[in-house]
Amino acid sequence: MGLHEIETRIAEAEAKYGRAPGSVALIAVSKVQPAERVEAVLREGHRLFGENYVQEAQGKWPAWRAAFPDVAVHMIGPLQTNKAKIAVDLFEAIHTLDRPSLATKLANLAQARGASPDLFIQVNTGREPQKAGVLPEDLDAFVAEARAMDLPVQGLMCIPPEDEDPAPHFAALAGMAARNGLAGLSMGMSSDFEAAIAAGATHVRVGSAIFGARDYAAR
Ligand SMILES: *Cc1c(COP(=O)(O)O)cnc(C)c1O
Repeated sequence: MGLHEIETRIAEAEAKYGRAPGSVALIAVSKVQPAERVEAVLREGHRLFGENYVQEAQGKWPAWRAAFPDVAVHMIGPLQTNKAKIAVDLFEAIHTLDRPSLATKLANLAQARGASPDLFIQVNTGREPQKAGVLPEDLDAFVAEARAMDLPVQGLMCIPPEDEDPAPHFAALAGMAARNGLAGLSMGMSSDFEAAIAAGATHVRVGSAIFGARDYAAR
């Protein structure tokens, strides 16, 4: 596949599902990918990337930012509270705000720095015990809590269970966002981003369909 095919498929899905042209941002998920693959996509002109691990991003992105100053990197993996300080300096957005202790930490950091990355609240729509995210019934209170801390909550994020049709999860997330007056919807990956666009995604997170399979053993 590759960058241009995914860009084309996103544009086609926008047209097919009545979404405005350019209303879906493509986050190229570069975690674990070899440097030459990421650099090829940077040279093709893409500027929005996603990473899952603070330490890995810290090692890779300073040099690429120096070469491509308009790059933006979004954190899409679970964030430990003790890495939050590094994360707010490293990322333009964090998609995985999922608990009050992290919200408090991010609010303190935002106050000290006078700025915060954009935030998405992760929702565990499939209620999977091993997965991060606020449970659906706790979401409205958590959104209110984060807003009371002046955190810039832009939207919601979900990762549907692997063995289920993702469409009902995307629809549920869209409903929760609308109910809370949130415009951003971070949903959809390589295998299901078109279904996510149909349901209203504003940010799709696509890794392997752009860069090829990840080789975790080679890290
Ligand atoms: C790795 C990852 C992706 C990208 O997955 P692909 O299937 O390679 O597109 C998207 N979102 C999150 C949260 C991820 O961890």
